[in-house]
Amino acid sequence: MKPVTRALILALTLLLVASCGLVRPPSMDSQGGDTFEDDVRGARTLTEAFWQQQFAQSGRTYRPVSDFIAYSGDSGPSCGNQPAVPNNAFYCPLGHFIAYDQTWMDSLWNEMGDGSVYLIIPHEFGHAIQAQLQTDFQLNIQMELQADCYAGGTLSALVSSGALGAEPGDEGELFASLEAAGDPTDDWLNPAAHGTAEQRQQFFVKGFRNGVGSC
Ligand SMILES: [Zn+2]
Repeated sequence: MKPVTRALILALTLLLVASCGLVRPPSMDSQGGDTFEDDVRGARTLTEAFWQQQFAQSGRTYRPVSDFIAYSGDSGPSCGNQPAVPNNAFYCPLGHFIAYDQTWMDSLWNEMGDGSVYLIIPHEFGHAIQAQLQTDFQLNIQMELQADCYAGGTLSALVSSGALGAEPGDEGELFASLEAAGDPTDDWLNPAAHGTAEQRQQFFVKGFRNGVGSC
């Protein structure tokens, strides 16, 4: 994602708003100058700056994550007594840190474009926000869909403020990433449920359109 014209930003907004459920083929981000590491760093920095501002506006103090850990395969940090698993990113409330399998995320970045990184990282920060707001959830899926909504709200705020530019194809990357991360079936009671592709896209768009306050 890079600085671009307002027209492209508008196009992204319209597509995201209008095309809930539509999944465009993933687009490669071949002419972008950012490396994977640049995008990961950028997504973290911008997301935390956004939440810091949000918290300040409501008279609260945002607590930055204590660590942001890249791992590969099985080498990740455990969370309590739960070991990190390959091909994942997660927030650990016990240590207030985020960890991600960089090999896995790098391959998503290569296959699906930088939109995947700008989705996964704000989603995980969404869980760090939930921990700070001490939101109570009855079902795991509610927590997951709210994190998708937070990710949408974060990205739209960053695009509106000009902190983040949108490139053509970004909306397709974001939707394809949500599609890929969706549950195969609609099983609300499953403790591991994250929501179907359609539900995840719907909550992302809700946040993107109405802001994090709507989540
Ligand atoms: Zn999650």
